[in-house]
Amino acid sequence: MNILITNDDGIYSPGIASLARVASHFGTVRVVAPDVEQSSMGQAITASRPLSYKKSPVNFDNNIEAIRVNGTPSDCVALGLHLWKDTNVILSGINLGLNVGNSMWHSGTLAGAKQAVLFGIKGIALSTPAGETEPDFPKLEPYVKDTLALLLQDSTVNLTNINFPKQQPKGMKYTRQAVQHYDGIVVPGKDPRGKSLYWFTIMPLDPADEGTDRWAVDNGYTSITPLRLDLTDEHDLIRLMNQQPVVTP
Ligand code: MN
Repeated sequence: MNILITNDDGIYSPGIASLARVASHFGTVRVVAPDVEQSSMGQAITASRPLSYKKSPVNFDNNIEAIRVNGTPSDCVALGLHLWKDTNVILSGINLGLNVGNSMWHSGTLAGAKQAVLFGIKGIALSTPAGETEPDFPKLEPYVKDTLALLLQDSTVNLTNINFPKQQPKGMKYTRQAVQHYDGIVVPGKDPRGKSLYWFTIMPLDPADEGTDRWAVDNGYTSITPLRLDLTDEHDLIRLMNQQPVVTP
């Protein structure tokens, strides 16, 4: 199996080094990642200037080819699949910070996996909480390995979002996206000269509904959420067609 790894924290993140170590148990690993942090860039692509890359082996074992790109996670996946056409799966992460609930809309980590699926390749995003200190990746790695063993065993093209809990996982749960709140908030402040500045940030939420991704990680489980790219609201589509038919001339 040929595994291509990306992230949004940048190629020097301890999270991508950890993921490369674990993925090496499952096949040939290559790395294509942003040269600087691209967190919260979502699905952005660089359309107004060309991309380039440099070989960047410093964070990885000798046998792993790794390049850093002056672009977003989606750019990295596109360029990586252009360079390595025999890729079977894209892994994105391990992100320093959860990507649960509505944060999926902004996540560059998940975007790396989504971009894979847009190209017809299986994509898996992996995230873990991060605080004042770095996550203990060597301690997390056996759990990452178990999760990948489960999800890499079939070749179906699909999109999966994995989040690990803060503490040692009690087990795994299949979950749905927590959507009951949106936790984005704008926090005003001042710069040293008195000019108004604003932080658009994510604040902690109330406890999430049982069965959701946020619920699982809050309760010490690894959350595994299968996702789809079709955003169509089937219910509204049927309702509109029935209640407000469009008159075709
Ligand atoms: Mn990130």
